[in-house]
Amino acid sequence: MFKKPALVAVVAAAALALSACGSSTLGGGSTPTVASKPTFAAGSTMEKLSQAGKITIGTKFDQPLFGQKGPDGNPVGFDVEIGKIIAADLGITPDKIQWVETISANREEFIKQGKVDIVVATYTISDKRKEVVSFAGPYYEAGQALMVNKGDTSITKPEDVAGKKVCSVTGSTPAATIVDKYQAVLVPVGKYADCLEPLRNHQVDAVTTDNVILAGFVDKEPDAFMLASDTTFTKEPYGIGLKKDDTAFRNWINDQLEAAEKGGAYKSAWESTAGKVIKTVPSLPALNRY
Ligand code: GLU
Repeated sequence: MFKKPALVAVVAAAALALSACGSSTLGGGSTPTVASKPTFAAGSTMEKLSQAGKITIGTKFDQPLFGQKGPDGNPVGFDVEIGKIIAADLGITPDKIQWVETISANREEFIKQGKVDIVVATYTISDKRKEVVSFAGPYYEAGQALMVNKGDTSITKPEDVAGKKVCSVTGSTPAATIVDKYQAVLVPVGKYADCLEPLRNHQVDAVTTDNVILAGFVDKEPDAFMLASDTTFTKEPYGIGLKKDDTAFRNWINDQLEAAEKGGAYKSAWESTAGKVIKTVPSLPALNRY
């Protein structure tokens, strides 16, 4: 169901190569066509949201390319565009989306408590998380990587961080992997942007998370940071988190992802955001219709 590692490496390499081009300005994204008066099964989450005419979506606010708060207060990025596509298919215009910042550690709780209707936030589908929430998707597949200070060649692979200080985010899959599999000394923070100063000041040796998140930071500060390597060492399939066992909603979102790829909205979503830095346009991964 996942892309071959070679392709993951190509995406990482593209991210690395293109990030060297310097900082890019991300615009407000694409404008998906808003469905006019769509109808849904009585009692479904789709009907409820569509009739309310509004939706609350959790996303990241500090991650360039996928979800970063813009000057007007609204986030921009590929995750934000995916959220807009789902909203549009419910007949909800972008101005009726309430964006809520979710950090890695609170996504399951926010979904469980109903603080958000869905989460689109570089959110890896995992069996552990599936015990608490359900996932549509994946709509993208990232992979874990390492970021170091520019010119530092002492770390080129995950095995090099054993016993070294590595910054990552509490509640994320990369934080767990770097400790459990590679024996790093984790320096945990709440958001990835909080890792940047510690890295710059050499309080940590590296930052670890998904390649595309790190590519966004390198793109903003190509003179300060670089990816340690152009390969990735895990698979991080991004899903859309929703209330556990809302199967009708999950299936419907999966249908919308497929339609968005067929109709071109998926490609526009990419090209107007992350695609400005990562030129390889992804294709929608095989959906995990469990
Ligand atoms: N995709 C990984 C995760 O969901 C890392 C990115 C993040 O923390 O949002 O844990």
